[in-house]
Amino acid sequence: MNTSVPVNKLAEVEAGDFGVWLTQVLASFRGSAGTDVPCGSCRGCCTSSYFIHVRPSDLKTIGAVPKSLLTAAPGLPQGYKLIGFTSNGFCALLKNGDCSIYSSRLQTCRDYDCRVFTAAGINAGGADKAAINQRVQEWQFSYATGQDQQIHNAIKKAASFIVKNRAAFPGGRAPVAPSDIAVLAIKVHGVFLLPEMGSQTPSEIAEAIIRASREFEASRSTDGTEKQ
Ligand code: SF4
Repeated sequence: MNTSVPVNKLAEVEAGDFGVWLTQVLASFRGSAGTDVPCGSCRGCCTSSYFIHVRPSDLKTIGAVPKSLLTAAPGLPQGYKLIGFTSNGFCALLKNGDCSIYSSRLQTCRDYDCRVFTAAGINAGGADKAAINQRVQEWQFSYATGQDQQIHNAIKKAASFIVKNRAAFPGGRAPVAPSDIAVLAIKVHGVFLLPEMGSQTPSEIAEAIIRASREFEASRSTDGTEKQ
């Protein structure tokens, strides 16, 4: 007799080749072409209580967003607006389960790729991000080389370090939002591939992360191409 208890196993969803994805997402962070997420029927980020940032450049290109949905965006640069969400956390532009302005959707939505959380080994947030968290855990990257696997491990180590060692950063200023932690971990993962990391203090590692982050930002050019 089989006495084993059935386990609720999450479905596995192909996230693509890790090395190819990493190249694309780093280019996206530098402001050039974005990634193309194979979302399928998932609408996680459209139903997870996100305020959507609307950039001045979005407003030039879309007349599709009703003005009544645009609200002020305190703390964001001048000209930015926000689109809120309904009482059940759904994007105000989601109609019958689909984006009502998909072909002219906002740059914020085009840039969103929940695989950054899978790469970093962290959830997108708490209970209000449950739909995204489920997809984050379902994604399965494939690895063409052992080095790609090592790089993925380095990203996870970077995210874990940032989460657990806030006090090691000057003034305790480390990212708090899961998306900021994941993005920073991806940008600075090289720090966690260095052999000397094992003998460094948390403060030294935090300094190395800050240096690597500055170097990454310096590699961005204003026209969106990578500096050589
Ligand atoms: S949560 Fe991820 S897979 Fe789901 S719609 Fe958003 S980006 Fe696509």
